[in-house]
Amino acid sequence: MANNEQKAETSLPPGNAIPFCHRCGTPGPLADSHVIPAAFSRQIQGDSAILHLVGTEKDAFPRKLRKGLYVTDILCPTCDNWLNLKYEKQAIQTLIHGTGVTSVYYIREDIHLWRMDDVDLDRLKIFLLSVLWRAHITQMEPFLAFNLGSWAARIEQMVLTEDAGEPDEFPVIPSRFDFRPGILMPNPFEIEGVPFWEINLGDWHFLIKASNQKTPPPFDVCELRKDGPRLVIPRDFWESGHPSLMREMLLNNRDHRSHRKTEPAP
Ligand SMILES: [Zn+2]
Repeated sequence: MANNEQKAETSLPPGNAIPFCHRCGTPGPLADSHVIPAAFSRQIQGDSAILHLVGTEKDAFPRKLRKGLYVTDILCPTCDNWLNLKYEKQAIQTLIHGTGVTSVYYIREDIHLWRMDDVDLDRLKIFLLSVLWRAHITQMEPFLAFNLGSWAARIEQMVLTEDAGEPDEFPVIPSRFDFRPGILMPNPFEIEGVPFWEINLGDWHFLIKASNQKTPPPFDVCELRKDGPRLVIPRDFWESGHPSLMREMLLNNRDHRSHRKTEPAP
């Protein structure tokens, strides 16, 4: 398959079976890198000593995990640590501890959602791209089949140079489950023919657009933008088929945000 050949070429130097660090070029042995941060595995694992990972792919599962799901062919320990400090630390603060995330309750509709008021959206975006990038690079299960295709080089550049790119480059659409922690390996996803990648981390779900096409409405207003409503839609509402209501709420919230600073202090 062309895709797998491309993936193999970008992962190993020609004629050399030793993995090298994809940031600094140092040859292995490399670090135990968590494609999905271990903190999200621990959410599921709870007090159990072992997390038993099962899946549908033959041979790859089941697998016992004592320290989360990791691969050993991406980064040297120094660069793995760099990536964790740059992006993962904030992602865990935001997505597990709720730092910078505001709860919003719409009385009229009885809907609870969230707003990413004080989250560094650039950093969050590059974190999500770094998950995709790591899943692309590794030659290890369960990420073997995942491939970024022609977007790989640009995404690698963005991750390694701390560049969040233009707002229309790989925009992120967040949504959230109510009390349903889980992990979904990065996967292709489609909305009305427009390709995305999806990542599920704990109760958070993210779509990252893999196309220059416009996001179909009403999901276009759900893209995280610094000057946008920054809202996170609950997943059951997302799937309930109320696109016009979703749009109305998002647009109203944008108005609300723009007036926020003029409101009297409590
Ligand atoms: Zn390195």
